[in-house]
Amino acid sequence: MALVSDRLQWTGSEGRVQFFWQWSTLPRWRLLSDLQQLESRLSASKCSGKSEDIWIWKPCNSGIYTTKSLIELLTSSVASHVRPTIRNNLIPQKVGILIWRASQNKLPVRSELDRRGIDLDSVRCPVCDDDIESINHSFILCKTAFDIWDRIFKWWNLNMNIFADTAELSKGSNSQIQTATGASIWQAVVWVTSYYIWKNRNDHVFNNSRFCIAKLVSEIQIKSFEWISSRLKNGCLDWHNWLTNPRKFDVNPSSKEGIG
Ligand SMILES: [Zn+2]
Repeated sequence: MALVSDRLQWTGSEGRVQFFWQWSTLPRWRLLSDLQQLESRLSASKCSGKSEDIWIWKPCNSGIYTTKSLIELLTSSVASHVRPTIRNNLIPQKVGILIWRASQNKLPVRSELDRRGIDLDSVRCPVCDDDIESINHSFILCKTAFDIWDRIFKWWNLNMNIFADTAELSKGSNSQIQTATGASIWQAVVWVTSYYIWKNRNDHVFNNSRFCIAKLVSEIQIKSFEWISSRLKNGCLDWHNWLTNPRKFDVNPSSKEGIG
């Protein structure tokens, strides 16, 4: 294995540094910018000779990594810059985490992987192949996603008002919903729908499974009923109403209480 000192050499009285990289694959995209940063940092330092390279963990005075020091670092600095996750108490936290990751551009869609320098055969949407796969495309613009949203809005007897982006999708609000309970349940349905759109995308990529929009919508109705009805304190959801008129509770004053 090469030493750092094998790859760079200081020349002249000003100590200018020269690099001697031996690439098997030329760096590109993110790797290229990482390399430029590395060269810039190394240019400002001095190598003491042919001694063995070592890693130093700066957060510890000893230079040796400990889990405790990492936890302290995350708690004190990183965590304070991370935006809090979002939550809807009517559905499991894993769904909220997915929506939060989507709204923060933190899902491994192909355009994001490509931006990070990962070689892919294609950056096009694995579901429709009509466009580059971005997070907005996957959740909102993809024809399959759009058809699912169309059916969900129709099921709820709402005008189709597709979300501008995943930030709007995470809010999951709709001006036609009248009560606080209705707003929470509609947001939960929006999130569960997004969860199934992403699940369908992953089934397509990893299991090569064929999707059926009617079946997906049916699964969304069943799973959202199961999750929401078990978490509503007064348990006012009824399966028949849920399928035929899910906004019935939205105008019923007795359903204004009891969000879990
Ligand atoms: Zn698509």
